[in-house]
Amino acid sequence: MLSEQEQIISALQSIHTRIDNACEKAGRNKDEVRLLLATKTVPPEKIKMAIEAGETLIGENRVQEYTEKFDAIKDLPCERHFIGHLQTNKIKEVLKYVSCIQSVDSIDLAEKLDTRLQYEDKSIDIFVQVNTSFEESKFGVEPSLAFDLIKRINQLGTLKIKGLMTIGLFSEDELLVKKSYRLLRELRNEAIAKDLLRAASNELSMGMSNDLELAIEEGATMVRVGSAVFGKRG
Ligand SMILES: *Cc1c(COP(=O)(O)O)cnc(C)c1O
Repeated sequence: MLSEQEQIISALQSIHTRIDNACEKAGRNKDEVRLLLATKTVPPEKIKMAIEAGETLIGENRVQEYTEKFDAIKDLPCERHFIGHLQTNKIKEVLKYVSCIQSVDSIDLAEKLDTRLQYEDKSIDIFVQVNTSFEESKFGVEPSLAFDLIKRINQLGTLKIKGLMTIGLFSEDELLVKKSYRLLRELRNEAIAKDLLRAASNELSMGMSNDLELAIEEGATMVRVGSAVFGKRG
């Protein structure tokens, strides 16, 4: 029987192999894709094992869970992002924990973040989350409204857009999944061409345990992986 730590180390090795193979297949440099560990429901001891194995970036989905785990993870040498739906009444809280919010999807949320950040005399990195799967249950700005949202966020002094984020379509049909990732890449390219995004703000956060290869083929610069490293969530 492998220990929990050995299991995590071996799972991380397979994920990195998958990322490297996907990059090779897509003719991309493997340094272009960063792994974010999606740590929702994962206990701090396991997160610590992954960081000790060399990982550098985690993302949580719920502010409440950050609050509960933060003492146990705050000294780990890693970057912390927020990747879940953010309610505006949790803004003050989440800003204590993260250096980047990947789920900004409305001007209301962006303005309220800006107000709080001005008050704290701080700025923060964000991703604009786009609903590329057109599923009603998904958060994210509608693709047709994304440029307008980016324009308005650019006018706020405290939010620095690093790129775009999406949760792809859940489907067995790889072509449809890839189509949703391709849409995010096209939106980013067009936003840069229109000078709405700086050329350096070109991140594409997309792809999860089941479909990271498809996302990398379509240009992902960050894949967010949970269950393939930490096991199925209960
Ligand atoms: C849970 C989650 C992931 C990771 O999903 P897995 O299928 O466990 O890899 C990625 N992104 C977001 C926003 C998530 O909530």
